[in-house]
Amino acid sequence: MKKLVIIVPCYNEEEVLPNSAKQLLGVLDSLIINAKVSDTSKILFVNDGSSDKTWEIISNLTHEDKHFSGLNLAGNVGHQNALLAGIETVCDNCEISITIDADLQDDISVIESMVDANSQGADIVYGVRSDRKSDSFIKRTTANAFYKIMSLLGANTVYNHADFRLMSSRAMKQLLLYKERNMFLRGIVPNIGYKTAKVFYDRKPRTAGESKYPLKKMISFAWDGITSFSIRPIGLITALGLFVVLASVIAFIYIFISFISNDTNAGWTSLMASIWLLGGLQLFSIGIIGQYIGKTYLETKERPRYVIEEYISNDE
Ligand code: UDP
Ligand code: MG
Repeated sequence: MKKLVIIVPCYNEEEVLPNSAKQLLGVLDSLIINAKVSDTSKILFVNDGSSDKTWEIISNLTHEDKHFSGLNLAGNVGHQNALLAGIETVCDNCEISITIDADLQDDISVIESMVDANSQGADIVYGVRSDRKSDSFIKRTTANAFYKIMSLLGANTVYNHADFRLMSSRAMKQLLLYKERNMFLRGIVPNIGYKTAKVFYDRKPRTAGESKYPLKKMISFAWDGITSFSIRPIGLITALGLFVVLASVIAFIYIFISFISNDTNAGWTSLMASIWLLGGLQLFSIGIIGQYIGKTYLETKERPRYVIEEYISNDE
């Protein structure tokens, strides 16, 4: 039977933690009783440098039940890095992991379907929200805009999927080969390429405490997501530069006609012509330099080049 670790990032979650722990344990117990996962399975709380009693609660939980374990990070490194810390800690020591937020806004009752999808061969199972009724209007609109922009810019994301997902051990190991500092898991995981599945659920409102993602953090998260995946904005600058250079040809014709029809003040002709041409050339050149910087940027990430799905070798 497979060993499952449920990874729960926690940042100042003292209000929700006791209840969330109880509910998660209930789910895990029933999975164990139904022989879907092994009794060695765990719930791992990752404390992301909380300033409240979160770690105290976690460490007490680990004494209460052998299925609870805790990982205490020295400082606040953010949701994505807290998840990675959990994954890196367990990937050699379990067959599957499920990541879920501490506030249990994501529906824990689909955890069983995730495990089932994995037994049927999926290495990655995405939890996907079927509606966003529980989110505020602003959160809903900005999130939708974000997914649209991401896909326009060529990043591969799963619509309405956050970080509630199951991963097999080999998917986790593959993920850890992405060495970049600025990890945007939702964008990276779909690039892994193993077989995937989706389970759908309704997202609930937070039971207690406040969102740890205020608008400011959300915007910077979205901006990180876009800029860590796409150098297309640089391409847009190049295209704009080229457009202005071409437009300056038309401007030239207009300026020239004005000049010969004596419809101009002294100096106007040369000034206008220089502004258009130089402006366009500068923008175009910046874009070209940007292309090289963009390539360097992508290279520095040292992302893995391929993923091996299977290797059949008849070596002895
Ligand atoms: N979180 C974290 N580090 C942070 C911010 C958030 O580990 O710096 C955790 C938080 O405890 C929660 C999850 O990330 O388990 C998602 O946060 P939250 O529920 O506040 O986000 P929202 O659901 O409002 O997007
Ligand atoms: Mg939440």
